Amino acid sequence: MNLKKEQLWKQVFSKVRTWARLNSIWAVHFNSGSCNGCDIEILATLTPHYDVERFGIKLQGSPRHADVLLVTGPVTRQARERLLRTYQQMPEPKFVISIGSCSISGGVFDGCYNVGSSVDDVVPVDVYIPGCPPRPEAVIDGIIQLITHLQGGTRPPAKLTQAVEEIAA
Ligand code: SF4
Repeated sequence: MNLKKEQLWKQVFSKVRTWARLNSIWAVHFNSGSCNGCDIEILATLTPHYDVERFGIKLQGSPRHADVLLVTGPVTRQARERLLRTYQQMPEPKFVISIGSCSISGGVFDGCYNVGSSVDDVVPVDVYIPGCPPRPEAVIDGIIQLITHLQGGTRPPAKLTQAVEEIAA
């Protein structure tokens, strides 16, 4: 196969891959210490009333089959390793959405003896959805942010966390 044809095939495959990814985002949900308020809102987002499945989004039981990790709550000391392990088990390319004020900054749990950090101290976060708890419309808006970036062939700017860098090293 000559070089031009090879490049053409690569471009076609890349477009098909992006199209497939955009239309079938599978998500895994991880509660790293939430009060369950944010988790209820995620469930509400999945009901027929808000119908997030119209974007091809489906909740998955296994991180090995998921594209997006939805994290709620501050990261407790007990949950830190489990969050990191769940993230590691996801195939590339993978994305993280941090849902609720607690996952972004610790929120009302900030300073508690059992709370270690916010989500982006442990895994790289692509989209932040603030609120206590964020409404389903806000969750949908965050998902659309991610889809918009993927449509443009980019990903939201996210920095590698020290924990993930240590694993990669
Ligand atoms: S942001 Fe609010 S609803 Fe969500 S886990 Fe924290 S306290 Fe609960």
